[in-house]
Amino acid sequence: MRMSQMFAPTLREVPSEADIPSHQLMLRAGMVRKTVSGVYSYLHLGCRVVRKVEKIVREEMDRQGAQEVLMPAIQSADIWRETGRWDDYGSEMFRLKDRNGREMCLGPTHEEIITVTVRDEIRSYRQLPKILYQIQTKYRDEIRPRFGVMRSREFIMKDAYSFDRDNEGLDRSYEKMYEAYCRVFSRCGVDYRVVEADAGAIGGSQNHEFMVVSEVGEDALVFCDACGYAANVERAESAKPAERVADTEKVRTGIRKISTPGMRTIEEVTGYLKVEPRVLLKTLVYVADGTPVAAIVRGDRDLNEAKLKRVLGCRELELATPEVIERVSGAPVGFTGPVGLRERIKIVADWEATVVEDAVVGANAVDAHLVGAEYGVDYTADIVADIRNVVAGDACPRCGAELCGARGVEVGHLFKLGTKYSSALGAKYLDEGGVEHPIIMGCYGIGITRTVASVIEEHHDDDGIIWPMSVAPYQAVVMPLNTSESAQVEAAERIYSELCKHGVEAVMDDRDERPGVKFKDADLIGFPIRVIVGPKHLGDGEVEVSMRRDGTVELVKIENVAVRVKEIVDRELAALMPE
Ligand code: ATP
Ligand code: MG
Repeated sequence: MRMSQMFAPTLREVPSEADIPSHQLMLRAGMVRKTVSGVYSYLHLGCRVVRKVEKIVREEMDRQGAQEVLMPAIQSADIWRETGRWDDYGSEMFRLKDRNGREMCLGPTHEEIITVTVRDEIRSYRQLPKILYQIQTKYRDEIRPRFGVMRSREFIMKDAYSFDRDNEGLDRSYEKMYEAYCRVFSRCGVDYRVVEADAGAIGGSQNHEFMVVSEVGEDALVFCDACGYAANVERAESAKPAERVADTEKVRTGIRKISTPGMRTIEEVTGYLKVEPRVLLKTLVYVADGTPVAAIVRGDRDLNEAKLKRVLGCRELELATPEVIERVSGAPVGFTGPVGLRERIKIVADWEATVVEDAVVGANAVDAHLVGAEYGVDYTADIVADIRNVVAGDACPRCGAELCGARGVEVGHLFKLGTKYSSALGAKYLDEGGVEHPIIMGCYGIGITRTVASVIEEHHDDDGIIWPMSVAPYQAVVMPLNTSESAQVEAAERIYSELCKHGVEAVMDDRDERPGVKFKDADLIGFPIRVIVGPKHLGDGEVEVSMRRDGTVELVKIENVAVRVKEIVDRELAALMPE
């Protein structure tokens, strides 16, 4: 490829619409252009990187025996109605009608359609197991498309679905995908972590997320360096507090009511009473499937709604309105507390909250709180469970060591679905005895385009992108510094053609531009290897081979350049390849 011909319009200025490095660099390096909010065109360089990530993903899927298929983006509402997701999916789904008024959608994911396809074709245990995958465009009308292709409304995903006869089979399929994912992200050159995750709307039991550690990540993670436990904060378990041992020496002051006029917030109450937020218990009133419930956590903790939902086993959970709070507690917002509340509504207490001594709680009366409240003496709960968010610094739920925190970008997700979709859609098989069973499923996604952005997020400097060899749009650039010097052009042309012959993906910067411009573009686009043909060494028949990553330079004889560059390419590809 000749730079003079290449469709890669680079930008000098940082585009104002982009606030993270990968988005800025993808625009500046001419990889992508926005069409409308959250929808991008991939220009030549962007497209090449996407294809390289896809190729790695294909190789690793195929290696595990998964079979590639390609399903349509356009799907009928009918199959989504059968699983109830036509209503549940909400406004993230792009919906449309055909000319006959039939409702359709642009697929945000493909569980329904693949399950129906398998249902119609698979009858017997002899046809199982199967893992089917596709690399295909997904449509999601995200509330906040942002960070360029990291969270866009049209994006490329690899989605795989496994079909097994039993849970042991599912475990094996899951293992295969897990291994494939580790290999994919190693080969892409990103620093990833596997964390336990919340199943969310897709349902199912066990699931893991593959996260690229990054400051710009939307997910908060905790992990334990001592035992390897790692989880998304949405899901991370809190360590069970030690049983409280009653201190018999201690003289209890007992519970008493105090006046806290107009003090509704934790800061106001704890400031006034001169106590730590951890001794104040927050009582939050929710409405779970239409019924009010109270949830109690320590004042310095955040309630985790996903955990509360799971503990209650409810479908819908939302914070109660001030009217509901007043009706169930008898006091306005800010003064609700657990004492006496259980006679009216169900109480769920975070297990950590139940070991707080002499707690401060709302009095269920206007402008009043209670101090000296004890769990088991002054109030109890219907359920004591883990319902709070874990934070860095907490004890590891497995080994007790201190948890560290980080932020991460979710690039892949593995789910054990079980029979959620096969039961809803009637995908069954007959066993050896002719008995019918629902097929056991798993689903496995990788955000191809998000992975591209994550690679850049991890591999860049102030001047531009520093591609890992495996996903670089081109592996090397040849730069004659002065195109009016025929000796430089001739040497550069010779090197370029030999590189191509040796199978190196090379670009010839044949533009009649100043060296400064060529260097700037090469840095920005991030070709891993640069071959600089300049006046300084040409007299000795040598050129400079330099590395974008660290700027190291070696002088190489013109006739040896292609072999040397190919060697570097192969060495770097091999270093990224897992055993
Ligand atoms: P998120 O929590 O980030 O919204 P998700 O749970 O909705 O992700 P999945 O449905 O599991 O994502 O999709 C599989 C993969 O597709 C994700 O791991 C991610 O890499 C990618 N992905 C999801 N949504 C987007 C998006 N809007 N833009 C780009 N990639 C996405
Ligand atoms: Mg999402």
